[in-house]
Amino acid sequence: MPHSTLLASDALNARVADEGWVAIPEGSTGSELPFADPGSPDAVVVRRPDGQLFLVQGEESIPLDGRWRSVWTEEGQGRWYRTNRHADGTLVVVRSGMWRTRFVGQVADVERARASEGYFGPFLGDGMGALYRSGVFGKRIGDGGTGEAEDILLDAAEIVIRTMWGPFENAPLGELAVYYAPVADDIGHELVGLLDAQDPDIQSVAWDVIRRAYRLLDDGLAHIIERNSPDVVIISADHGMAPIRHTFLPNVVLRDAGFARSDAAGEADPNASDVWYHVAGTGLLLANHRGLSGGWLDEAEARTALGAAMRILLGAVDERGVPAVHSFADAHGNSVSPADPPRDEVYVVFRSDVLPRADLPEASSAWGAPLRSGAHVTNDGDPRLRATYTVSTIGRHERSMEHHIENTDIVGIVYEYLREEAAWSGSL
Ligand SMILES: [Zn+2]
Repeated sequence: MPHSTLLASDALNARVADEGWVAIPEGSTGSELPFADPGSPDAVVVRRPDGQLFLVQGEESIPLDGRWRSVWTEEGQGRWYRTNRHADGTLVVVRSGMWRTRFVGQVADVERARASEGYFGPFLGDGMGALYRSGVFGKRIGDGGTGEAEDILLDAAEIVIRTMWGPFENAPLGELAVYYAPVADDIGHELVGLLDAQDPDIQSVAWDVIRRAYRLLDDGLAHIIERNSPDVVIISADHGMAPIRHTFLPNVVLRDAGFARSDAAGEADPNASDVWYHVAGTGLLLANHRGLSGGWLDEAEARTALGAAMRILLGAVDERGVPAVHSFADAHGNSVSPADPPRDEVYVVFRSDVLPRADLPEASSAWGAPLRSGAHVTNDGDPRLRATYTVSTIGRHERSMEHHIENTDIVGIVYEYLREEAAWSGSL
């Protein structure tokens, strides 16, 4: 293979500060509202007598309004600010998280990428779904909003794509270029649940928001393709997404049946529970077998307890009588029945519209309202949980991925094309 340059950026692992917001009280003219955090240690918000809001940071005084505005720190990091109305009507100033970006590669490429950050704006690694979910961007469409909160969310998504992909725009691609964007996942978590809404108007607005998010990704990709004319483009995801109807707390069901006990932190206590749903949230259900540190059940007792707990969980149904649990599997994905339980551990396969949580709060019901609208925690076979992949080659041959493939198969497909490319250009 011919030599190529390498340019890579790493920012998602180096978050300096989280997103945040501050409410501006009526009549607060002239006063300074502290708005400091580790990313902006001396920041205050000031409202001038004419009503104009300013962010004051160091020597700078930056006017704020209803658009995302980039603000850099002296250390060369930056974040995004804007004003809007909270769902409760209060005027708020919102700011994004902040990241330390790091580029590696050949000096000229790194310098060019670094310099272009000033043009594209501070790296935004997160679409701020948590702020949207809690009403900071205004009333969501599912709660009777007009769509303005979704506009703010989509504006942030555009910044995510621009600041993640922009610095690579003028970089030499080499044999392989990999671009990552969290936007489809972020927007999906917030809106996918509304695609099943009872109200057809809400459904159609939700489709519109999701379509606009995918168009942002398409436009970003089209830009990269136009500039670089790659031979092959592969679009890949690691999962699909299904709407969530309920959160479900398996440990509450297990506690009510006498299997699990809570600890002081409101979680299942591994030193006091016969069977509990593990905090890792991977679906793991454990019996306290002697093989575990501190475990006390012998082999027969552990097997019996696990089988009984599986049966109890299978019996947990929602208000429509639909069970939370689809089935059980061992670590290799083979189906396991409560009639023939393994010795001490089994994986719970939940229904795709149930979001399991491992905590065990006192006096709580096992069923709750969904926290996020869509998720992909476990896979009960719902086709919406599958990822879809596209491979398109320009001027050579086409290939579609209509059949179901494992997401790890993408690596093999990439290698296959790289080998073909190398043979074709005579460099093997
Ligand atoms: Zn996700």
